[in-house]
Amino acid sequence: MKIICIGRNYTKHIEELANEKPENPVIFMKPDSAILLKNNPFVIPSFSNDVHYEVEVLVKINRLGKHIQEQFAYKYYDEIGLGIDFTARDLQSDLKSKGLPWEKAKAFDGSAVIGNFISKEDFDLNNLNFKLFKNDSVVQNGNTANMLWKIDELIAYVSQFFTLKIGDVIFTGTPAGVGKVEPNDILSGKLEGEKMFKIKIK
Ligand code: ZN
Repeated sequence: MKIICIGRNYTKHIEELANEKPENPVIFMKPDSAILLKNNPFVIPSFSNDVHYEVEVLVKINRLGKHIQEQFAYKYYDEIGLGIDFTARDLQSDLKSKGLPWEKAKAFDGSAVIGNFISKEDFDLNNLNFKLFKNDSVVQNGNTANMLWKIDELIAYVSQFFTLKIGDVIFTGTPAGVGKVEPNDILSGKLEGEKMFKIKIK
C-alpha cells in the first residue's frame, strides 16, 4: 500500500508556516515503512530537534481507480480515519529552502500514525470535527469544512497521477496548531468525538 499526503489544505495552517497558498494540492508520499506499528510509542528520531505533530483526517481507498471523476470519488472509499503526519520541521525547512524533496522530513520510519477507521455513512464529510490532544489539552481543533480541497476533489486530483489501490491511505492535510513533540507527551485524537488513536512519545 501507499500513503498519499496532502500539504497546505487549510488556510490557517498555510499562514502559520508562512507558506504560499498553492494553485493545486501539494502532494507527497510516505512509504509503508513509515507506518507507526499499533501500540508502539513514537520515538523522536536522532536527526531532528523539532518534530511536529500534524493531525489529519484519513481516507482508506477500497477500489482500484485511475482518473477518477470527482462525482464518482465517493465510490472509492467507505471508511474515514484520523492520524498524524509527523514532520521533522527543521529538516523540512532546510530542504524547502534548497528546493529539495521533503522525504527525509516526512517519510521516515514511524512518521505515519494511522488510527482507527469508521464508516463514513453517518457523517457529513464536509463538516467533520476532529481534535488532537497533547497531555489532555486540545492543541489542534479542525473541521473539514475548512479544507481548500475536499476529499472527493483530492481523490480526483491525486488519481490523475497515481493509480489508487485497495488499502491506500490519503492524509488530507492538517489544520492550524501544529507544534513540537517532547519525550513523555501523550497524543490522542478524536474524530466526531470518537477516540481514534493514542500515542506515547519517547
Ligand atoms: Zn501533513
